[in-house]
Amino acid sequence: MRRVFSQILNLFFPARCPVCNEIGQRHLHMCENCEKEVERIDYRCLGCGLPQTACLCSRNNFSLVLASPFLYKDNIRLAIHRFKFRNETELAVFFGKEVAQCVAKEFGDVKFDVVTCVPQTKRKRRKRGFNQSALLAKRVAAELSLPFNELLLFKTRETADQHDMRGKDRLKNLKNAFTAENEDAVRGKTILLCDDIKTTGATLNECRKALFRAGAAAVCCTTIAVTPEKVI
Ligand SMILES: [Zn+2]
Ligand SMILES: [Zn+2]
Repeated sequence: MRRVFSQILNLFFPARCPVCNEIGQRHLHMCENCEKEVERIDYRCLGCGLPQTACLCSRNNFSLVLASPFLYKDNIRLAIHRFKFRNETELAVFFGKEVAQCVAKEFGDVKFDVVTCVPQTKRKRRKRGFNQSALLAKRVAAELSLPFNELLLFKTRETADQHDMRGKDRLKNLKNAFTAENEDAVRGKTILLCDDIKTTGATLNECRKALFRAGAAAVCCTTIAVTPEKVI
């Protein structure tokens, strides 16, 4: 019965590869072509999240404790765009699975109390209709059987779009833009912080600082992808 149902469903909503969007037999897994082409990060630096051979930690004055499955390029970049800007929210299931596997591999011995996400201001969320980091974090939490709490961090003011900024301006732009007001939910906790992409790491770093100011015991980060080079 379930099989018949899924065949009928397939007729109207054919299974697609989540990464290249080609119609195929798979749904929650990449097609064989993408599996070959997509660049996974195998040996990463946990300071910046980049492959060890491309570590940029010497340029930063912070360490993120970051593990992400993919490099932000090619098909993965396009898939993240579909997730963020074209409302293909069901991609959270595929990304959540991949991110959770990566977290389990790198932070398998860390006992997380809670999973949370990089927040948006209320205005931005109203405009976009959803917070993609929250959707992702929720799926990651479900995969890892951990509680998810969207309300640990708040973005207190709108910041200029990070894409248009360089280096130190990015850091200045974000300074004190995040707070963790619910200290009871943060104090003494080991937290997994999720976002969609890590570019310079400035956003994740500011969020980590806000959680530590509120008394977090430890904060590890994860994103779907890490931008290959460039940075501060
Ligand atoms: Zn594909
Ligand atoms: Zn590094």
